[in-house]
Amino acid sequence: MEEKFLKKFENRVRKTIEMYNLIDKNDKVIVACSGGKDSTTVLYLLQKFGYNVEALIIDLLIGEWSKKNIKNIKNFCTDIGVKLHVVNIRDELNASMCYIRSTIQEKSRLSNCYVCGVIKRWILNRKAKELMANKIATGHNLDDEVETILMNIFKGDIELALTMGPKTGINKVNGFVTRVKPLYFCTNNDVKRYSIAMNFPVVYDPCPCSFGSFRRDMRKLVELFSKGERRKKEWAVLNFLSIIEKLKKSTISSNVKNCEICGEPTRKNVCKTCELLLLVKK
Ligand code: AMP
Ligand code: ZN
Repeated sequence: MEEKFLKKFENRVRKTIEMYNLIDKNDKVIVACSGGKDSTTVLYLLQKFGYNVEALIIDLLIGEWSKKNIKNIKNFCTDIGVKLHVVNIRDELNASMCYIRSTIQEKSRLSNCYVCGVIKRWILNRKAKELMANKIATGHNLDDEVETILMNIFKGDIELALTMGPKTGINKVNGFVTRVKPLYFCTNNDVKRYSIAMNFPVVYDPCPCSFGSFRRDMRKLVELFSKGERRKKEWAVLNFLSIIEKLKKSTISSNVKNCEICGEPTRKNVCKTCELLLLVKK
């Protein structure tokens, strides 16, 4: 019974990679690992499929939570024979994630997950370049994507929508490492089932800082709409992607420049991370 599911799941991931041309055997891929079920599954499968992968985890210094995840991923990488890079947020930004967030939140109403997400993407892009990788693979799954669609629509943020899809990052833009999402068509439940069946050493609890987030509210809406059916979620995502394809060809996507402060790619003069760090310093 479970054997059949495991095979079907792996085939879905393989098909997503092939259909959307996510990864090539010549690519050097950094798998962005949180220590959770999704990115651990991506790491395991990319290695199993024979791609050139290395793992990277950012130590966000979120107390016991970070310690546990780092320990798990260290053991896992040793077990499967993959090189792991541990990047300490303090070495990059001189502060822990908790400090950065609480300082920013004294001055703005940005959520924990928003601040954390922006900073993680910034560190990942810089580190991937340092490690001479041309792809970053993340653990985003189908549920994450439907939730993100709703969040962007509610925020009215079309530019954010351009970062969606199984493969993001406009190759022509200097300094932006292409990001790929091999679990794009796998539901959260299926990834969990796979990870449990494979006995992966992961923590299934949500991040302790993600309470009360906008995303969690969207999750409830998605469940109401889909009643847990994978096809309905896939339908919503594919329809949205067809709109984005048209938008990507418009002028918005060609407006990418380099941040005046750190040099990373951005659509404004100063990137989101530097904007946040300016708030911290104020
Ligand atoms: P999240 O922002 O927590 O929803 O995570 C989205 C994706 O970012 C995960 O699937 C991972 O691929 C990656 N990620 C999350 N946390 C970390 C971390 N601490 N270090 C490296 N990558 C991470
Ligand atoms: Zn910047």
